[in-house]
Amino acid sequence: MSEDQSFDRIRAQVEEWVKGPGERWAEHIEEDGEVPEALWEEMNRLGFLRMAAPPKYGGQGLPFSRWMELMEIFSRSHGSIRMIVHVVNGIWRAMDGHASAQQRERFVLPSVTGEIKIAFTLTEPGNGTGADLTTSVVREGDTYYLSGRKHLITFGVRCDYYLLAARVEGSSGHGGTVALLVPRNAPGAQVKDTSHTMGVTGTDHASLAFDRTPVPVGHRLGAEGEGLDIFLGGFLTPSRISVAMSCVGLAERAQQLALEYARSRVTFGKTLTQRQAIQFMLAENAADIEAARQLVLHAARRFEEGADDASMQSSMAKMHAVTMLTNVTDKALQIHGGLGYWKSQKIERVYRDARAQRFEEGTNEVQKQVVFRALLRRTRPPAAPEPN
Ligand SMILES: Cc1cc2nc3c(=O)[nH]c(=O)nc-3n(C[C@H](O)[C@H](O)[C@H](O)COP(=O)(O)OP(=O)(O)OC[C@H]3O[C@@H](n4cnc5c(N)ncnc54)[C@H](O)[C@@H]3O)c2cc1C
Repeated sequence: MSEDQSFDRIRAQVEEWVKGPGERWAEHIEEDGEVPEALWEEMNRLGFLRMAAPPKYGGQGLPFSRWMELMEIFSRSHGSIRMIVHVVNGIWRAMDGHASAQQRERFVLPSVTGEIKIAFTLTEPGNGTGADLTTSVVREGDTYYLSGRKHLITFGVRCDYYLLAARVEGSSGHGGTVALLVPRNAPGAQVKDTSHTMGVTGTDHASLAFDRTPVPVGHRLGAEGEGLDIFLGGFLTPSRISVAMSCVGLAERAQQLALEYARSRVTFGKTLTQRQAIQFMLAENAADIEAARQLVLHAARRFEEGADDASMQSSMAKMHAVTMLTNVTDKALQIHGGLGYWKSQKIERVYRDARAQRFEEGTNEVQKQVVFRALLRRTRPPAAPEPN
């Protein structure tokens, strides 16, 4: 079987699953407000949680841009299904670049095979995300003692480990930051379930507090001072592209729902599809979705090629795709009329799930900063005039 044929087979499998079992899971999640463990197990058994990891790690080894084509399909599904697929297929990458051989065996490979769940633990309640972080460690022999707070942490309740950003007490900026794998049940760790969110129903989220929680120094990835590189460095580029592709998938779903509804809804003797105002909305959506899809795929290919501008491209793709998603879901809901505001309508859930994308992997304000800094690096200032 050629590579293309084998990819087509996987794509057909994903499409079928999303439309059939995925849709039934979505209804179940909305009814119960929880993502059952059985859903994780099913997706893991089908290989959906290791699409992007290399075969030597037990993954399916898909090239990144091909994997993104599948990410679009998964994202047409429930927000929590998308969240699991996005996080699990990406978290190994954050750890892998800085893991020792022993850490790879202990943390990276089991996260690919689904034996352990790892939560990306960066955001803090009392300060900005990144160099501003205040959660800190004090080293005593071979142990760090961790104190501080984190919040908004996806899978923070059900995970086995937190991949957590902290700093050596007394350090500032990027210097002295560390990336630690903190066991979920470590002494002195308090986990508060904060799972009730606007959308992405059923995904567990947590607020965390640590009070001199002991963490073995052997659980530190990379060196002291490299912590934020692990969280904000190479990993964020593919992860932002994946979020951008999630926006494309979710927008496509909103558009499909709007089109179906417009075909069947009759007002004053005509279907909505016969009204030019509605036709224009659907045509604009189609063009906006396609433009975002192509920009995201371009960023994915630049990342695959190891291009210098991959980080800038990923932020541009995320910025653009998120704005597109906001516009498309708004118009799709409008086409449903007042009924679209009701929970009985799938567009209601899609609209709520879409709003979360504006925060994940950084807001547009942050993406603009990344793009602007890259622009400045690219353009040299004009030479100063020669003195007379
Ligand atoms: C569904 C969901 C899941 C999440 N999962 C995780 C997770 O698993 N792990 C994790 O660590 N985090 C997670 N987050 C947190 C997410 O990464 C942050 O919400 C996001 O990065 C924004 O940070 P903040 O919430 O602290 O906003 P703030 O930093 O408080 O920002 C508030 C507003 O001010 C703007 N702003 C802030 N600073 C500046 C500035 N310097 N210049 C201009 N504007 C600025 C922001 O863009 C934003 O609009 C999740 C969030 C959501 C919604």
